[in-house]
Amino acid sequence: MDHAESAITIKLPWQEQQWQRIDDLFQNKKLPHALLLAGPNGVGKQRFALALAQYFMCESPSQGMACGQCRQCGFNLAGTHPDLKWVAPEEKARQIKIDQVRGLVEALGQTAQQGGYKICVLSPAEAMNINSANALLKSLEEPTANTLLLLLTDAPSQLLPTIRSRCQTVNFPLPSAEQSLAWLNTLVPSHTSVDELLYEAAGRPLAALELLENEGLERLQQLNKDYLALVSGRISALSLAEKWLDHELGDILAWLSRQLSRLISGRVAGTADISDAWQQLAAKTEPQNLFKLLDSVNQLTNSLNRGANPNRQLALEELLLESCEKFYN
Ligand SMILES: [Zn+2]
Repeated sequence: MDHAESAITIKLPWQEQQWQRIDDLFQNKKLPHALLLAGPNGVGKQRFALALAQYFMCESPSQGMACGQCRQCGFNLAGTHPDLKWVAPEEKARQIKIDQVRGLVEALGQTAQQGGYKICVLSPAEAMNINSANALLKSLEEPTANTLLLLLTDAPSQLLPTIRSRCQTVNFPLPSAEQSLAWLNTLVPSHTSVDELLYEAAGRPLAALELLENEGLERLQQLNKDYLALVSGRISALSLAEKWLDHELGDILAWLSRQLSRLISGRVAGTADISDAWQQLAAKTEPQNLFKLLDSVNQLTNSLNRGANPNRQLALEELLLESCEKFYN
């Protein structure tokens, strides 16, 4: 995350309650040493953590916000505050390594250079392997004064229970569609279809914004078109696998998993949260075929997440062949 910003970071409109709860603890000097910010990816947990850190470090906060003027805010605006550490997997790594956690523990143990709070953000916390997590436990058990550890996670169940139990959990559920749409509308060009963006981002507003910024919506629309062409026999699995080599395999799998989940829940609940073309497609096949296909997508996703490095073209071909099979069954 790039911390150099032109303005102080503020919480998002749907984070009012969480902010109030933590601010009350802070004002009453009851802030715990570690907070676990838990909730789906793309709802703004990183933004919240940064806003909170800037607020706690500010010399003269007003109305529950950092002032943006003081020396500490100056450091934070430049992204160079010596007492704020941000720990994330290094580039291309999936895990937070033990050396990174050791560095963090050491930093937390030292006196704050600016005399205020020392804050460490660990994101995503589930990226810690068992050794990293054990290294962190020590500083959770013997915290030093004026330190705050913010652990961010999309998957709290993947954290060691001993880590979870030493943190106070603050939940960040998905905001309502109304809240997300209102917020997106203030940020996107007026011709943008915010409903479609939010739909493709599975209701996660920051993920929707990211889709817009990297032309993700166009890419997803192309995936959609291509896949429908495949299952109606207008393009072969082989050609499509080749065509899709430009896309990240993880993106394709996430998209297909979302589409299949929508089809399945639409069938179960009798609702139609997906386009007509997909509904017609689903009507041609049995629900158990959709479940089997979703299973294959999830298995491949899991193996990628565990660090497997399959032959992309072969893996895609197999999945696309299975798609044809299942939709024609
Ligand atoms: Zn300030």
